[in-house]
Amino acid sequence: MHLLVVEDDPRLRSLLVRLLGEERHLVDAVETGEEALEVVLGPAGIDLVVLDLGLPDLPGLEVARRIRAAGRTLPILILTARDTVGDRVTGLDAGADDYLVKPFAFAELAARIRALGRRGEGPSRRTAPLLAVGPIALDETTRTVTVDGVPLELSPRELSLLECFLRHPGQALTRDQLLDRAWPWGVAVTPNAVDAYIHYLREKLGPAGARIRTVRGIGYRLADG
Ligand code: CA
Repeated sequence: MHLLVVEDDPRLRSLLVRLLGEERHLVDAVETGEEALEVVLGPAGIDLVVLDLGLPDLPGLEVARRIRAAGRTLPILILTARDTVGDRVTGLDAGADDYLVKPFAFAELAARIRALGRRGEGPSRRTAPLLAVGPIALDETTRTVTVDGVPLELSPRELSLLECFLRHPGQALTRDQLLDRAWPWGVAVTPNAVDAYIHYLREKLGPAGARIRTVRGIGYRLADG
């Protein structure tokens, strides 16, 4: 998909551009509401907007309203630091399709974007996207994990971590890569936190947990053979 990231925080903006690019999206980014409107209403062919609410010129909600007022129906996903029911309702009233409260983990944002992207496709493509490696499966629609068909209870962090592995089977992932994707942005965590959560995850996966291999000097990988 061709995404537009509207975010005035330069660090978060460049992180989102990099990680969404690695998810094989084509990503443009702007820092103000006026620029966002110019790009979305212009000829760029944006498929989805990731929109921060607190922008330096126009409120994000006003940007969403003007996109809808111009008759554009592309999905809008709002990023907000304000976790109140009032703001959520206003955001959805303004024409947003979904919202994510900061701080959020990148894996969660990526999952929401995939879900919004699927919504625009025909019913034939909407059926149960399943990520599976060996006996471990993640249903992307329901966000449920099963091992040999048996449902597993995972915390949101464990789920994000497992999703990173399932998206990159066989590939060694560094602790920093896992932190970028599975932990909320801007929250101070040490790479040791990754080791702790890998330990929990292996335990919960039971015998299938042995598939998460330690890669010395690098991090971890999910064995797919
Ligand atoms: Ca902001």
